[in-house]
Amino acid sequence: MNKRIYLCLAHMSGKEQAFIKEAFDTNWVVPLGPNVNAFEKDLETFIGENKQVVALSAGTAAVHLALLACGVRPGDEVIVQSFTFCASSHPVTYLGATPVFVDSEVDTWNMDPELLEEAIKDRISKTGKKPKAIVPVYLYGMPAKIEEIMAIANKYDIPIIEDAAEGLGSRYDGQVCGTFGRYGVLSFNGNKMITTSGGGALICPNEEAKRKIMFYATQARESYPYYQHEKIGYNYRMSNICAGIGCGQMTVLEEHIAHHQHTFCLYKELLAGVEGIVLHENPSSQFDSNYWLNTILLDPDLHVNGEEYAYEAVVQGAVGGAAGVTHEASSLHTDCEPNKNVEAMRMALDAVGIESRPLWKPMHLQPVYKNNPCYVNGVSESLFKQGLCLPSGPCVTDEDVVYIVQEIKKAIQK
Ligand SMILES: *Cc1c(COP(=O)(O)O)cnc(C)c1O
Repeated sequence: MNKRIYLCLAHMSGKEQAFIKEAFDTNWVVPLGPNVNAFEKDLETFIGENKQVVALSAGTAAVHLALLACGVRPGDEVIVQSFTFCASSHPVTYLGATPVFVDSEVDTWNMDPELLEEAIKDRISKTGKKPKAIVPVYLYGMPAKIEEIMAIANKYDIPIIEDAAEGLGSRYDGQVCGTFGRYGVLSFNGNKMITTSGGGALICPNEEAKRKIMFYATQARESYPYYQHEKIGYNYRMSNICAGIGCGQMTVLEEHIAHHQHTFCLYKELLAGVEGIVLHENPSSQFDSNYWLNTILLDPDLHVNGEEYAYEAVVQGAVGGAAGVTHEASSLHTDCEPNKNVEAMRMALDAVGIESRPLWKPMHLQPVYKNNPCYVNGVSESLFKQGLCLPSGPCVTDEDVVYIVQEIKKAIQK
């Protein structure tokens, strides 16, 4: 076995260190400064639509502040796409509010507009008040049916916070994802389209909204010669060092997007005709995914070598690289897990140096949210049981993709 092939490793342009050096040389080693401003400008230029951007310490912080700015208070409800990473919904709970989960549709795997309307009506009839915000997600980079979602949100006058953490550079009808709703969330974690080592940003509708977000991101300081606090704030601003990495990364963003999309095309070509495996793709020309992660579904009837041994051993560590800071699993199984053939494929690929990962387990199936209201059609649960994410990042070469598909084919029982 030669090298290990990962899902999406960070890839530097070579320009990052110059921005960081400049920060050190000019003593801007703080959570503000020229790199932060430049990074925000670069992002604003990239996304267009006259939007303003605030650079923050994480995408999770961006979700949190967007909810705050939408007026989410203890006891409120917020509608969140169930099929997502936990950072879409956890900040709702930080505010003492309740995430209400809405399932996905089969075309994009994102929020089902029909179910969304059903959920809104039902919440109004059950609680007597409207949900405070709606959080659709661009899962794996795939644009949601955002026009239909917007139409429903507008009908009930509920603001939208687009979670575009995985969807930087994806477009719907030619417009950049994250610019449709009132707020848009971006993430620059180590494994996203671009990285600042860790970081995020909030796309804001105007200068006033940007100022409000910056105020809350910097401990809500009133303008007096001494610390005067009339609101509770947060320490969420991006550091000038991280923003330096971001400035360097912006020079390769287009390249990264093109590379992810190229990798998709290669998977599509090579997986064509492999029975029982379907690659997730843009449902029509309106959708233009950045293909942050390429994902496949395994037919439940497909048999994979070693599936009789799936789930026999406890996995060491946890998904997503939080090494050493995870709880030890208390059992081999949970009440909802990927099918045995999926786990067997993951193990087969792992054994030959290829990282793959089950699709994100829907939030309405997570023990921590077991009592939350949810509006479910079975789509995300069924996707979770059948799906696998494949290596897709800027470090994945054409030869890697050929090798990965070859190993997938080898693992299928004849
Ligand atoms: C990564 C991610 C986030 C959070 O971003 P961080 O920068 O890791 O805090 C939010 N939502 C989704 C869907 C994500 O994948």
